[in-house]
Amino acid sequence: MTNNPRIEILLERSFPRTTRALLDEYATPAYQGYQLEAWVFDDEAERQATETAFKAAGIRARLRSAYKPLVHFFLEEFSWASLQSLVIEYPVLAHAPRRFLLEAYPLAGLLPQGVALRWEEVGTTPTTISTTISTPLHYRVRVERSTGELETYWVEAPNRQHLDHVDEAQCSPCGWLRLTSPNGEVSESIVETDYEALFQAAMATLSSTQWQTASPYFEELNFTVQLPCSDRRLALDDEHISLAEALHEELYFSALEYFQRRAGLALGDRSIQPGQIVPEVSSQGERAYLNVSLRPLDASQLPRAEVELESAQQALGVEQIEALLAALDGQALHAKTRAGRAVEARYIVGSDRAVMISAGQHANETSGVVGALRAAHHLSAEREAHFVISPLENPDGYALQGRLIATQPRHMHHAARYTAFGNDLQSQPLGQPFEHAIREQAFALSNAGLHINLHGYPAHEWTRPLSGYVPRGFEMWTIPKGFFLILRHQPGYETAAEQLVEAVTQQLAQVPGLVEFNAAQIGLFETHAGALTFPMLNGFPYLISEDGNQLTPLMLITEYPDETLTGEPFVQAHTAQMATVVAAYNAFQTLSLNA
Ligand SMILES: [Zn+2]
Repeated sequence: MTNNPRIEILLERSFPRTTRALLDEYATPAYQGYQLEAWVFDDEAERQATETAFKAAGIRARLRSAYKPLVHFFLEEFSWASLQSLVIEYPVLAHAPRRFLLEAYPLAGLLPQGVALRWEEVGTTPTTISTTISTPLHYRVRVERSTGELETYWVEAPNRQHLDHVDEAQCSPCGWLRLTSPNGEVSESIVETDYEALFQAAMATLSSTQWQTASPYFEELNFTVQLPCSDRRLALDDEHISLAEALHEELYFSALEYFQRRAGLALGDRSIQPGQIVPEVSSQGERAYLNVSLRPLDASQLPRAEVELESAQQALGVEQIEALLAALDGQALHAKTRAGRAVEARYIVGSDRAVMISAGQHANETSGVVGALRAAHHLSAEREAHFVISPLENPDGYALQGRLIATQPRHMHHAARYTAFGNDLQSQPLGQPFEHAIREQAFALSNAGLHINLHGYPAHEWTRPLSGYVPRGFEMWTIPKGFFLILRHQPGYETAAEQLVEAVTQQLAQVPGLVEFNAAQIGLFETHAGALTFPMLNGFPYLISEDGNQLTPLMLITEYPDETLTGEPFVQAHTAQMATVVAAYNAFQTLSLNA
């Protein structure tokens, strides 16, 4: 890749493997008789291999996961035999009281049937930790067996307090080392692991690069990472534990935050246009490797297999989306993307009230694309049908999603969320030729009163372990909590909004399995994240809010936990999306709209 003159490498290096460094330093005669405990960001196989190597050198060693230590304790060290009940005490941070309950997710969903579980706070006062922390935070696990035996375990969760890449105070999981000498002397210290060092090096590269004055600052900012670490699938829905996926999320959002802060914007601002930020984290190699480079935009399209629309087990290919759209006839609408891809929609004219249907604004939320097309084909069978269908609003993001799942098919890949400018298309200024123009054209032609905007969110836990664990700005979206609806309305349309949510949720309750799916996810959510703060109607959480700036009087946004789903769960996702569009379209036709 170095001989491509259009690729500028900003950094390329590998990182000494933490487990090997521990062996080099401590598996020596000088430490005979010592006991070593370390917390590192490595998978179980590597940690066990390191323990074995220590044992061969005559040293007792225990290597634990610094990431999600309580869940790993139950997976690796705990016996489930005749388990009757658990009381788990968790540490409480003053600024984030439920942080360690969230980090324990999805433990409550992994327990055998019938095991009672109760959570309690450790101690009575919230914990404040300092950089000179001398012992790790801990959980306390009290176990009762059906044999009557009682056990207590102390599960440590090493964390450090630090300023992050945008100078915000954080408490984050960290590497840790404890040595106990033969005469019982204990020494403890924070260890900067390879995983943490790689992330720091990536952030330092951003600060030391001279960026051009005007945005976009680059076409593609690429982080190619190799991590010698495999993912761990959990026996619950789509849950898995992945250091590689977490690193993608860290690199993507941290880079975005770096440019937001540099531009003087609020963290989380969606209008900033730094360019396309692409972390490509593969699970391979012998040691962690990082290459940061600036590259030309990728305008290629990876082919995806053609599938049956109604039963699609995976995201559709762009060619198939275009063919399905063309088959609807109607007036063609066009916009373009930064990389030169086409954004296409169709306007079907009829005597009904007009509705706009869109999907793929956030291109790693792929079930809406299928749901929108299924609904459009269903609706277009009626002579009165009157709608604009825009099934893929963000083709640059969608192409990136296709590129990223080629190596990591089970990861959520938020780098594919925004456009190749790096912004949320909804934040684009009016009157430009890019993605948002398709909505402006749709509204100008149809004067639609309702916009049905199909979205999704992660189907398994989303974390940022090196910046406080809980994804900043997305605290409400870190673990699945069912299919729910957001209704935004212009002033005066509150009653119409309420009526629409009532009618749509009544119809959705008829979709086989959907209410039960919601109940199960919300139950687990409430155990780890606290009571749901949304109202519920007919088994569906929803949110209604006023927005005077949106194009249409009413906008219905769906949120299905679809990111990473394939197979039958993906079919269930796009079936719920389709059912929502059909129900909302029909309900809107008879809604009283006296604003
Ligand atoms: Zn979304």
